[in-house]
Amino acid sequence: MALESMEIWFVTGSQDLYGPATLKQVARNSREVVDGLNASSRLPVRLVFKDVVTSAESILRVCQEASAARACAGVVCWMHTFSPAKMWIAGLSALRRPLLHLHTQFNRDLPWSSIDMDFMNLNQAAHGDREFGFICSRMRLGRKVVVGHWQEAAVQERLAAWMRAAAGAAELRGLKVARLGDNMRQVAVTEGDKVEAQIRLGFEVNGYGVGELAERTQAVSDAEIDAAAAECDQRYAMADELQPGGAKRQALRYALRVETALRGFLVDGGFGAFTDTFEDLAGLAQLPGLAVQRLMAEGYGFAAEGDWKTAALVRALKVMGEGLEGGASFMEDYTYHFGADGAKVLGAHMLEVCPTLAGTMPSCEVHPLGIGGKDAPVRLVFTARGGPAINVSMIDLGDRFRLLMNEVDAVEADRPMPALPVARALWTPRPDLPTAAAAWIYSGGAHHTAFSQAVTGEMIEDLAEMSGLEYVPITAATSISDVRNQLRWNEAYYGRRS
Ligand code: MN
Repeated sequence: MALESMEIWFVTGSQDLYGPATLKQVARNSREVVDGLNASSRLPVRLVFKDVVTSAESILRVCQEASAARACAGVVCWMHTFSPAKMWIAGLSALRRPLLHLHTQFNRDLPWSSIDMDFMNLNQAAHGDREFGFICSRMRLGRKVVVGHWQEAAVQERLAAWMRAAAGAAELRGLKVARLGDNMRQVAVTEGDKVEAQIRLGFEVNGYGVGELAERTQAVSDAEIDAAAAECDQRYAMADELQPGGAKRQALRYALRVETALRGFLVDGGFGAFTDTFEDLAGLAQLPGLAVQRLMAEGYGFAAEGDWKTAALVRALKVMGEGLEGGASFMEDYTYHFGADGAKVLGAHMLEVCPTLAGTMPSCEVHPLGIGGKDAPVRLVFTARGGPAINVSMIDLGDRFRLLMNEVDAVEADRPMPALPVARALWTPRPDLPTAAAAWIYSGGAHHTAFSQAVTGEMIEDLAEMSGLEYVPITAATSISDVRNQLRWNEAYYGRRS
């Protein structure tokens, strides 16, 4: 429900030279564009027409209002006529929201037989938007430029992708991430500068003792566990031993006790994402598996082993993909198939893959865990459905964050894997496994990722742009030498710090 509470403001630029009649026409046309875009059913966030601005004062005012409005996730600007851009400097300097420059015009076609100078003066985006573009470039403003007639599907889709990115950025600005326990000991890539992340992206990360969660498990009532267990009986294919009266029904009940306690902890603290670590489970009998999977399915961001960056990303992807086909999850590149029939990655984790990825009804099972020294944890087991997806990783390079994105094609399993007791996904990375994995490794990408079947590389690129993050895409067009050069050039752009 995150997208419904947001809005994107639409601001039309003009100037006072044309007289009130022309400005009224500009306002009417702007409303028609906004109404038409909202009616297209392609936009995930409501577009709100704010104003036709014709002076430095009115531009500053609308930019300040946008920056202060909680609901405003971003601003779309369009110069219907010419709008001298020195008027925009104060406003754009004050703007604290993502900016999309829509380079369109009201009419699609030239009115060949009737075109006159009045028409020319009213419809000047072709040069008015260039003046606006100059000042954005001169001010080094991050933004997205979308070009084409506003009724074209492709234009609406570019705008929609940016809206989803803006919604992700807005979610990150207010996000609270809880870390139960610290990092997995000695692991490097999951560490990072939480203060810098909060300055840059806005989300806060704070640690809590897992004992606090353990204490909460004591307060969960049998009635709450009964209700959750009944829901599981309905929603999953329950292993015989976990069914009512089954030999290990108690293990399920314990997992649901942890889930209920954890949900209460997250709700009470206003958290949208969390981490745990198998090395700090004091007071808990199982590593939370089922609980984490079901909470991710409810929309929480999660990553294991204290990986707060990935947990925040998973939450952002869940918001960005809201209403689209497909799920989002914490993921880990686990093991490879280097077969002659096409190299693939098998992605999984010890337990914690979100069932929103599932192609079929998950089965609920209990199996011992090789590490951690705790009771056998209950988990949902399934294979993610096939289709296009992305893996996203945010790493801390010491002087900046780098956002990596790899487009992949998820596939159904070639053969059953009856002995593998965890949820998993199989995919072929684009352009191919050797290129993608080498590019990922040169880029320093983590083994943990946020995986989405709904969010696209375009949305991640937009999110990086509006957040000022370095962005490295790995796509069908990627070559190793291009990526290596890009990484070298980025070092120069961002400034190497040794
Ligand atoms: Mn891991």
